[in-house]
Amino acid sequence: MHDVIIIGGGAAGLTSALYTSRGNLKTLILEKELYGGQMNNTDLVENFTGVGSISGEDLSDAMYTDALSFGAEYKIAEVVDIVDHGKLDKSVKDSYGNTYKTKSIIIATGATHKKLGVKGESELENRGVSYCAICDGAFYRDKEIVVVGGGDSAIEEAIFLTRYAKKVTVVHRRDKLTAQKIIQDRALSNPKIEFQWNTVVTGILGEKTVEGISVEIEGVKSVMRTEGVFVYIGLSVQTEPFANILKLDENKAINTQLGATSVKGIFAAGDVRDTLLRQISTAVGDGALAGQLVCNYIENN
Ligand code: NAP
Repeated sequence: MHDVIIIGGGAAGLTSALYTSRGNLKTLILEKELYGGQMNNTDLVENFTGVGSISGEDLSDAMYTDALSFGAEYKIAEVVDIVDHGKLDKSVKDSYGNTYKTKSIIIATGATHKKLGVKGESELENRGVSYCAICDGAFYRDKEIVVVGGGDSAIEEAIFLTRYAKKVTVVHRRDKLTAQKIIQDRALSNPKIEFQWNTVVTGILGEKTVEGISVEIEGVKSVMRTEGVFVYIGLSVQTEPFANILKLDENKAINTQLGATSVKGIFAAGDVRDTLLRQISTAVGDGALAGQLVCNYIENN
């Protein structure tokens, strides 16, 4: 039996693991893809204090190394269910049919990109529709592409994509951005970036690959030619396996009171919980708190 199973190996989960394993608890991290989570989709991190500018990949490598340095185990597995049998008795099931026994659980499954939900989007995914500029940007050298959204992710990634693309058009449904001011200023002064305001994307066009998007500009239907569409319209939390056991808020994020969920011995950290700010720094803070809460929980029960 493990003392704690941490579900998710992003910034929050890896930090939790550092705290629990350093607290001498038998710790297992279960991650369904690659450790690092959303850091893997981030070109440059500039607002994680103490390290200057660092690539998302380097930061996740460093966190992974630290997380395992006190003996935490790491396994690739997708969790499909958790069960609470009582105080120090829980179980976690993965998609391969394995069941892991544990005294406590930290959920740090984070969030994933939202989809537009328009015709052509899923049909042309990976054939011109992308959700990851770092992964796919290099395919668009000297091409004209579109980024949809007006938040931090859309604007940061639009700037990143100007390394490759001839022109990046940010298509946003409002007439102003919600990204942080410093990022906005960089984008607004970048000669390779244009803005298409008050524009709703209604479809993605193309036979084999993306050839354009259909849009409504202030209610008027139109078509914009483009070879690539990068969608950055926000995040949806990954709480589906836990919805039957934990209280969620109206956005399906896990309800927490200082890291504790509605079930004793189950904690939540990072983007997956109800929080006002979703950043690497806040995920790390949450991870530290959840890790320490687990140490206290096991000592006191
Ligand atoms: P976000 O801040 O929620 O912004 C989503 C953007 O997409 C908004 O401009 C929104 O427009 C638009 N949008 C939403 N649904 C849409 C739809 N169906 N069609 C078209 N546009 C749509 O999401 P995010 O940029 O992915 O960021 C997520 C979180 O990560 C945020 O908390 C952000 O601050 C954080 N983050 C931080 C950094 C950093 O600190 N460097 C970098 C990246 C992300 P409306 O305003 O009209 O809703």
